[in-house]
Amino acid sequence: MAKIFCIANQKGGVGKTTTTVNLAAGLAKVGQRVLMIDLDPQGNATMGSGVDKRQLEMTVYDVLLESASVAEARVRSEKCGYDVLGANRELAGAEVELVDVERREKRLKLALAEVDSQYDFVLIDCPPSLSMLTLNGLCCAHGVIVPMQCEYFALEGLTDLVNTIKQVHANLNKDLQIIGLLRVMFDPRITLQQQVSDQLKEHFADKVFNTVIPRNVRLAEAPSYGLPGVVFDPSSRGAQAFITFAEEMVDRIKAM
Ligand code: ADP
Ligand code: MG
Repeated sequence: MAKIFCIANQKGGVGKTTTTVNLAAGLAKVGQRVLMIDLDPQGNATMGSGVDKRQLEMTVYDVLLESASVAEARVRSEKCGYDVLGANRELAGAEVELVDVERREKRLKLALAEVDSQYDFVLIDCPPSLSMLTLNGLCCAHGVIVPMQCEYFALEGLTDLVNTIKQVHANLNKDLQIIGLLRVMFDPRITLQQQVSDQLKEHFADKVFNTVIPRNVRLAEAPSYGLPGVVFDPSSRGAQAFITFAEEMVDRIKAM
């Protein structure tokens, strides 16, 4: 059975997509079978995995509307070593089209059940909102990985996300838990980041991942080559951190 994780944070630009594609590539590197699902109509995780979102015949949109199965809509990213269930602008319409549908928040969960045994990990890149799309992700997940920058307002935004996760846990998905907070774009020279990092560990203890992802320009350059940093420049500090994070995740699921 695959372990399914949402990479979520309702803020934009905090590193969700970077975390999703690099964790996927890192897990693939250490021998895990991975499906990466792009739930953001921007399609950045799709493009960042070397899959052209404009050329896709079927996407996660078709899966949500039940006009395709996951097996039909997924594509293989040979360069990255994992499967991709891609997204493009079409997905923005799903929100409206699902309004009158029964059990609309469970669409992805049902579709994933069919391919569950083919993967060790399913990673879902969520859009920067707590929308029906994110809800579909949260309903099928065992856990949420929350990338965050160690900035002053980071903790404030966390409250909304934690409350949403609690509600989903209580009403829709008993399995759901926060797996951990991942400190990203970290610069230890900035005192405030150190302080916020210390606060995070105080409040959330073992819910804070051991691995810290540094700010690293190679991670930011990689998407323009259609690759995760882990594939684009495996020896860079950013890539190395994500490979360490992948190993930490493999350890974590043993205890789940
Ligand atoms: P989100 O998906 O949450 O909107 P992204 O993953 O797209 O966030 O990241 C936002 C921007 O920050 C992107 O331009 C990305 O390349 C850059 N970025 C993300 N993580 C890092 C990092 N560790 N070091 C440097 N740049 C990063
Ligand atoms: Mg994104």
